[in-house]
Amino acid sequence: MIVVMDPGARKEQIDAVVNRLQKEGFDTHLSTGVSRTIIGIIGDKTRLTGLALEAMPGVEKVVPILQPFKLAGREFKPEDTVVKVTPDVHMGGKQVHVIAGPCAVESEQQLMEVAREVKAAGATLLRGGAFKPRTSPYSFQGLEEEGLKLLAAAREETGLPVVTEVMDVRSIPLVAKYADVLQVGARNMQNFFLLKELGRIDKPVLLKRGPAATIEEWILAAEYIMSEGNYNVILCERGIRTFETYTRNTLDLSAVPAVKRLSHLPVIVDPSHGTGKWHLVAPMAKAALAAGADGLMIETHCRPAEALSDGQQSLTPENFAEMMTELREIAKVLGKEIGGGKQ
Ligand code: PEP
Ligand code: MN
Repeated sequence: MIVVMDPGARKEQIDAVVNRLQKEGFDTHLSTGVSRTIIGIIGDKTRLTGLALEAMPGVEKVVPILQPFKLAGREFKPEDTVVKVTPDVHMGGKQVHVIAGPCAVESEQQLMEVAREVKAAGATLLRGGAFKPRTSPYSFQGLEEEGLKLLAAAREETGLPVVTEVMDVRSIPLVAKYADVLQVGARNMQNFFLLKELGRIDKPVLLKRGPAATIEEWILAAEYIMSEGNYNVILCERGIRTFETYTRNTLDLSAVPAVKRLSHLPVIVDPSHGTGKWHLVAPMAKAALAAGADGLMIETHCRPAEALSDGQQSLTPENFAEMMTELREIAKVLGKEIGGGKQ
């Protein structure tokens, strides 16, 4: 249930409704929009009858939420959420951010070199896996804390905030010490204990869509994080499993406008894992922007043929820069700016 307040409702009136609900044992979530405030009610809704909330001053109406997700849904919060990664980097709204960097952090030289290149081409966040969820246990598993330290050093030099994956509850404090945004990988999208723990930290979480997850399951995964108090969730479409084998996954671009209709959370697209082929990355990145994505995640490597993981889907710095030039033109048409217009 949500309580929709009158557009002109005063603060005392909002406080009175919140106090009443809390006294009755309900949790409340306040959403303060430009024109009106919405109070989300969490708890056993059968106990709401008899409270006569609609009779309280300043209340316009009490509306049941029909969708299974509440905090993540547009019914609860009609305005887009803008996730503030740093004072300059805001995900959602007019800025479109490109997160770029290697699949995995491999060495100091590899990371620094590519970080400088993507920064010069206009990326505004740096990615790189230090803990890698590999299909085979015999593949390169990542440099772990050493990789996190290298990411922090690259941030120090380039000023780019860092996005990196956290694979289990145990390593949240370690990853949170170095990262600006903690990524939940596709394979962990329904690791509910991990999601709940990430709901208790004060850093943004980038939640990738599971390879076999429906849109509803994906938004409900975000709800797990939000229900513990962390509302800074960025959703990332990265392709789903279909019968097609030419591409690594099938990039579901219709999920972007679909999710943006259902949810207020920012949605970005990862065409690297979404296609698995470097030559499909730029076309799908352009299409993602046109479909309304708030950002992109692009794997880049100075020498893709030597990459320890995902070289086949990584852009060279030259290809990356060319794609960025094209993306700027598309952003202009959409009335948006890549990276807030900064270089
Ligand atoms: C990644 O971004 O490094 C990654 C492993 O992607 P996904 O979880 O989408 O497979
Ligand atoms: Mn990868």
